[in-house]
Order: sequence, then C-alpha cells, then structure tokens
Amino acid sequence: MPSCARCGVTVPSAGWEQHVRGQRHLSYSFFGQAGHSVRSIVVRRGDGAVPAQRIVRPFEVPHHVVDLVRRARELSLKNLFAHSGHMLYDRAVGHFSPERLCGQLLALDEAMPRQCPDGWLLGSVGVVACLAVGWGDADSTLSAEEQRVWVDMSHEMPLDIVQEVAMSCALETLAAAVPHLAAGSSLELRLSRCIRHRHLATKLLRRLQTSLQTASLTRCTLYVALDSAFRQEDGELLAAAALQGWRARVLSVLLGSHARVGAASPLRRLPLNLLQTIVELVAVSSRAQIELRFEEPSCANMLRVTANPPTMHQGADLDHIANFVL
Ligand SMILES: [Zn+2]
Repeated sequence: MPSCARCGVTVPSAGWEQHVRGQRHLSYSFFGQAGHSVRSIVVRRGDGAVPAQRIVRPFEVPHHVVDLVRRARELSLKNLFAHSGHMLYDRAVGHFSPERLCGQLLALDEAMPRQCPDGWLLGSVGVVACLAVGWGDADSTLSAEEQRVWVDMSHEMPLDIVQEVAMSCALETLAAAVPHLAAGSSLELRLSRCIRHRHLATKLLRRLQTSLQTASLTRCTLYVALDSAFRQEDGELLAAAALQGWRARVLSVLLGSHARVGAASPLRRLPLNLLQTIVELVAVSSRAQIELRFEEPSCANMLRVTANPPTMHQGADLDHIANFVL
C-alpha cells in the first residue's frame, strides 16, 4: 500500500487519485500543515487592453511549483511582521497566500511567449519570493557560469501601502539570498516607485549592505524613481559595504602568504610575483560595481534571467525558477 510523504499516511492504491485531490493532501502540499482549505487558483493574463484570466484547480498545479511556492511563502513570512507591523499584517499576509503566489508564477509562465519574446519575465511579489528560495537553496542547480538577473517591479505600480509592504518583504527576502548567487553574477533591480516609505527602503538597504559584504557579484544596480524613498547617499553606503567585503577577501588571500598565519597555506611557498598576479586576479574578479540610479518611472516591467538562452517555449521560465530548488 503506497504511503503519502506529504501527509504521512498510507493510501490504498485504488484511492490514490482521490487522496491527492482531497483537502488534507492539498493543505499539506500548499501550506505544509493540515487544516487549510486550498482555493482554486486564478491565473491573470492581463496584457493591457483585454485582461483575461483562467481558473486552475489546486491538484492541477505541478508538484514542483507547489513546493516552490510553499517554501517561498514560509521564507517570506519570517520577515513580514517587521515590514507590516500589527496593523497591516493580516492584510499583507494575503499577498503571500499559496494560491496567489501560484497564480503569479503560472501567469508569468503564460505571459512569456506573448509579451516577452526575448526572455524577459514579470517581477511580481510571488516571482521575487520564489527566486529568493532558489538562490538560497543548497541543492540549487544554479550553475557556476556567469548569471545576469534583472528584476523589474515597475509594472506593480501604483501600489497601495499593503502591496508596498508585501513587495518590500519579498525584496528583503531576495536581498538576503544575494550571497547565494553564483560568483560573477550581476544583479539589477528596477524598483522605480515600488518603495515610497523610507522605513521600508531602509530595511532593504540594510539587508543588501549585509549581503554585499559576502556576495561575489560583478555588478549590482538599483534603478529607483526620483520621487521614491531612496536617497543619493544610499548608493554610497551600498558601495562601501561591497568594498568592505572585497577588502576582506583580498586580505584572506594575502594572509595565506604570511609566515605565521599562513603556515599551512601553499601560498606561502609561491614566488612573490606569482602571488601578486593571484591577488590582482582576485581583485578584478571580486570587486563589484555598485550603483543606485535615479530615473523617471518606466513602462518596462519585466524580469530577466539571461543565463537561459532566449529560446522561450511555454513553461521554460517557470521551469527555470522551479529548477533552482529541485
Ligand atoms: Zn497526501
């Protein structure tokens, strides 16, 4: 008799189909615990003039998408209260419902071939949160090859305060996962006017500062609107954090050549000119370009992961995100 790993119960073979459509199984799959009823998923395919939507039943969603969404929700909710406070929490948590996150991922997948033929994807709360899960996954299949990731949230405007809180929370979750990006990656975040309250901008900046000290990016650029909550000096603080991390990495290499500290390091036996070449290579490869660019709000509204070739087919980008955690 087969057993269900999610629910921890044995199920008669003849009743398997019924079990995976049942409330208990769906609750464990989407929420990680019993007691929730999972609603149908609305997949909006708004492409301007004629918004359309379709309904997907919970048991029709692929397992790897359900797992990704459940983990993205769990990860994001750890940060949410700090963004929402008591007053807005109940409303903000709705933006991280598994059904909503699923709908955003599936909509992203469906929008791709029509709206973004060159491989650009929409950057919603759900997509941002799911990317954070992928980057932070120890078993991620992110390759070591150079990655360029461009997340654009400008299509999310205008945001009300609850939407802004949800996006702010998702962005902080993403920022915390930045050190998990492959070495040599570049990251561009087009925030435009998504963050208009200074206390939310500060949370994102602090998290990015911490991440940039250990990340091995070649480039990190934030595009923000002139009337957003960001200030000119924020870019300098981010650059200073990245520089601090870079100095620490160079120092760790140099310590390998130290007679006492690096006693066990093979670096100590290298000729000085070769050591100098290594240090220069470390310096070139590990020093990130950090920029905070102020600009007018743009209509661009996409997210790009150029590590994938731009030969998009139905499901390609959803697969790409889901692959991070498989
Ligand atoms: Zn089950």
